[in-house]
Amino acid sequence: MSIQCSKCGKPAVYLRRYTAEQLCRTCFIDTTIQRVRRTINREKMLRDDDRIMVAISGGKDSAVLLDVLYRIEEDFPKAELIPLTIDEGIQGYRDEALKAARRLASDLQMKLEVRTFSDLFGHPLDDIVKMRDEKSLGACSYCGVLRRRSLNTAARELDGDVVVTGHNLDDEAQTAMMNMMRGDSQRIARTNRSRAQPIEGLIPRVKPVKELSERDIVAYTHQQSLPYHDIPCPYAVEAFRNDLRLFLNDMEHKRPGTLLAIMRSAEAIVQAFEQSESSHELLSCERCGDPASRRICKVCSMLADLGAD
Ligand code: SF4
Ligand SMILES: [Zn+2]
Ligand SMILES: [Zn+2]
Repeated sequence: MSIQCSKCGKPAVYLRRYTAEQLCRTCFIDTTIQRVRRTINREKMLRDDDRIMVAISGGKDSAVLLDVLYRIEEDFPKAELIPLTIDEGIQGYRDEALKAARRLASDLQMKLEVRTFSDLFGHPLDDIVKMRDEKSLGACSYCGVLRRRSLNTAARELDGDVVVTGHNLDDEAQTAMMNMMRGDSQRIARTNRSRAQPIEGLIPRVKPVKELSERDIVAYTHQQSLPYHDIPCPYAVEAFRNDLRLFLNDMEHKRPGTLLAIMRSAEAIVQAFEQSESSHELLSCERCGDPASRRICKVCSMLADLGAD
């Protein structure tokens, strides 16, 4: 006899470990959407008439993000969803992922906006990697900083009110632990500001699927047959994150709820930081005018070091 759904008694297709629920397809999809809706409401991430820029990578997390938001936003006719992909210029990887992103957007009758590193900074990531000298940073450091800037610039140009990204629970717990283990818990606060405390010149960024585990995400893509691209990036060498992933997966297996507990601790750090911050001193970069924590922003100093400015 097949296992029954804890909610409606139909045959179950998925065990959600951290709630110990067996779920049929319909109840799995409904509860996944509800979970995202609750995260959005709890942190007041979105407003009824937002122009929402949805960062789409072509991977599974952002596929779920767009599909779930599409369903939630049906209740908010004044809101708009605009899928946006940043093409870093990684041959054989992002160009392939872009095809999945386009398919996903067109399945939902949306137009995908695309901005490239070449347009924004004059060079694709593949060239930037070649321009580095041996002592300089890894590809992901350039990619991360330039992608964040690209998303903000594109969202501003497209008149977006908010940027949503597809970071899931596993990503968030791993990142929080990585920052703590590097002794940089302030970074958790710097990169996770709540929408209630925006910084001028920066479009607020929120993470509506941060309470969905990677298992939930994979199951949702299968149940909804969403198109996505799953080949790893050729520059990915995140040994530290991979070690943590294995450790946290093991802990989550032994003690379901560990990932959520780590994320809640990170949220408490953000709150404490925001409450203690009387006036956040922020400068404008002398070169590009974007918000910066020092005279020349990180993007401009990176490009200058490469001789690409
Ligand atoms: S793995 Fe690194 S280089 Fe590749 S897309 Fe991610 S951040 Fe960019
Ligand atoms: Zn059911
Ligand atoms: Zn600058």
